[in-house]
Amino acid sequence: MSSKVLMSVKDLQVYYGAIHALKGISFEINEGEIVSLIGSNGAGKTTTLRAICGLAEARGDIMLEGKSLLQIPAHKRVHHGLAQSPEGRGIFQNLTVLENLQMGAYSRSDKKGIQQDLEYCFGLFPRLKERVQQVAGTLSGGEQQMLAISRAIMCKPKLLLLDEPSLGLAPKIVSQIFEIVKKLNSEGMTILLVEQNANQALKIAHRAYVLETGKITLSGTGQSLLSNDEVRKSYLGV
Ligand code: ATP
Repeated sequence: MSSKVLMSVKDLQVYYGAIHALKGISFEINEGEIVSLIGSNGAGKTTTLRAICGLAEARGDIMLEGKSLLQIPAHKRVHHGLAQSPEGRGIFQNLTVLENLQMGAYSRSDKKGIQQDLEYCFGLFPRLKERVQQVAGTLSGGEQQMLAISRAIMCKPKLLLLDEPSLGLAPKIVSQIFEIVKKLNSEGMTILLVEQNANQALKIAHRAYVLETGKITLSGTGQSLLSNDEVRKSYLGV
């Protein structure tokens, strides 16, 4: 794997009015890595992704390939190589599976590449291919999660941001989703994974950070955090 830094987040701070949601966090994501950000409810995981995408006003800096994103509006950050599969999935409920995927590719004009990526998503998630004309709002929770990840892939991002992809899903589907995340990464995608499911998120992560009330309190390889006593007690329930 490359040790080239793809994203560097420096002293990131976010306020929601009087609430200091992120209190100066710094972390890096190297090309080809899965980096997991774990933490309890309200730790600031979603806020971190919102700040990276430009959806929350932030101080500090967010550099992608050495360029600061902070002054770039949210809708333009996708052109710089960011795509997010948001918490709660955020799919277009009234559009079909295919239309949702086409929306993911709205900023692209390379028809051939779009078709290839569509086939790639159908290869990852054959269920989406079977349901290509189905209205997305009628998909099961797991299928909606598959669609949300695929829609983000259709942006052809340099960095894929996944917010709680396992939330509310049956254990069997959760395992499938994590397997797919691993596969995507092994095929070249760099991933920032935000998760409450610390066990699974650490198992597949090259490196990970623990976020507690807006601060990073621990970091290390996924494996080292899995065996860290504090992490085991607070996040793995063992
Ligand atoms: P969860 O796992 O429950 O989604 P999280 O780690 O993603 O939690 P955030 O959603 O980032 O946490 O929230 C961090 C803190 O910021 C929390 O205290 C939350 O109440 C607060 N917060 C989040 N969004 C807003 C908002 N729009 N207005 C005010 N406070 C907010």
